[in-house]
Amino acid sequence: MFTIIGNEKVDSGEKIPVRNPATGEVIDYVPSLPREEVKNAIDIALDTSPRLNAIAPAKRSRLLTEVAKAIRGNVDDLAVTMTRETGRPIKSSRLEIERTAQIFELAASELRRALEGQFIPLDLYELPAGNENRVAFVKREPLGVVAAITPFNFPAASFAHKVAPALAVGNTVVFKPSSLTPLTQLKLAQLVLKEFPPGSLNVVTGNSEMIGDEFVSNEKVSLITFTGSASVGLDLASRAVKNGKRVIMELGGSDAMVVLEDADIDKAVRSALVGRFDFAGQFCNATKRVIVRREVEEEFTEKLKSGLQKFRAGDPMDEGVDIPPLISSDAVARMKEFLNDALAAGGEEVYEGKVPDKGYYFPPVVLRLSPESKARVLREEVFGPILPVVPVSSDEEAVRVANSTQYGLDASVFTKDFSRAYEIASKLKAGTVVINDTTRLRWDNLPFGGVLKSGIGRESVINTMLEMTETKLVVYSR
Ligand code: NAD
Repeated sequence: MFTIIGNEKVDSGEKIPVRNPATGEVIDYVPSLPREEVKNAIDIALDTSPRLNAIAPAKRSRLLTEVAKAIRGNVDDLAVTMTRETGRPIKSSRLEIERTAQIFELAASELRRALEGQFIPLDLYELPAGNENRVAFVKREPLGVVAAITPFNFPAASFAHKVAPALAVGNTVVFKPSSLTPLTQLKLAQLVLKEFPPGSLNVVTGNSEMIGDEFVSNEKVSLITFTGSASVGLDLASRAVKNGKRVIMELGGSDAMVVLEDADIDKAVRSALVGRFDFAGQFCNATKRVIVRREVEEEFTEKLKSGLQKFRAGDPMDEGVDIPPLISSDAVARMKEFLNDALAAGGEEVYEGKVPDKGYYFPPVVLRLSPESKARVLREEVFGPILPVVPVSSDEEAVRVANSTQYGLDASVFTKDFSRAYEIASKLKAGTVVINDTTRLRWDNLPFGGVLKSGIGRESVINTMLEMTETKLVVYSR
């Protein structure tokens, strides 16, 4: 598939293969652009800025609504493309495409709130004499060029979370998809560019390190918005900030679910199953560890095992499939390493499911680990279907185990006692704590993001718009 820079459909030179993880087969190719083309895309984005800003915000709002309509009109094609390149179950891909349209609609309405500004007569305050005749205007201005980088796992919604707010507030975009899953985003970019002027969105595919390096070092880029792993994101962030750029970083997680002895165990089990095994666990806010009070450990684990037996692994295009493949053979190899390490560290495997032999599958696994275990699955981010269950004897121990990672994205607590839940929620290091539901909750206009190595800033449509604008203070003296 071609990529789009300015007016041009670029489809020449070296190519990167895109594979279907369910079969390992190559399904398409995208160009591997030389650095000059990436620089060119940034130049074009900067040059297009006045044209984009000549379109009044009210009109931009209408264009975003038209993009949302176009996305809805192409749900089937976009969902199939997404399933073929990510391996995400087709029913889940359809939901994400609908969500993508909603994010564009949110941007269409929220741009009014983001760009509203303020009018402040200074004589509202008892200021030193001489201020009586002064008034201040606070306005929001676009930053210029936004560079965006997204991960493989939710190409449509991550595209929307970066492109829709940027265009809404008048920034042009240079966008880098994951090399593993560029196809859905290239199709979405075509829909956006049916409404917005050429050059307002430019897509660059190719060597990730080179493109990242150009983004952080090119002085024409004002902000880098990155969603992906902590190791890549924090390295890019430190170099970008050194060069005076703003950053929004949405990074990894090792989300803990805490289950207390008075919890609704059936609900906790359902939440753990969805939280950990949907899309084979490849979500940033997947439930990556369960910490359960010893009093209910056996009941929780038995119910988890029987729930998991009903999960069917297979072809993600099949409507009935729950466990799809992982994204790549490297991802499968990483799961094997995590499992071997956990077993060597004293972990006990209490469940292992079945998966097809062909394609990048890894079976769903449940492990039992002691709270003192040094296993990597309790500290690092496990982006696959391994769920460690850790029995604990007190709420304090639960909090200690939950907080024993460098990540702090989401967490959840299950109990019928709200004040106990609130106490634990206050002690958990996390950007979001959900009480009595899965860690996988995200509504697109609520502030989503992490503490520690899980991120910098919060991504909701309105928050992103504010991050993507400069506050300009204009003071007028009569
Ligand atoms: P990744 O970090 O490997 O890649 C993310 C993006 O960065 C891709 O586009 C990739 O091509 C690019 N990239 C890789 N190396 C680069 C470099 N040196 N310079 C510039 N760009 C580079 O992550 P992934 O495997 O695609 O996605 C999974 C990760 O993303 C997990 O850690 C997950 O938790 C995280 N994630 C976070 C959120 C969130 O909102 N917090 C959402 C989804 C995924």
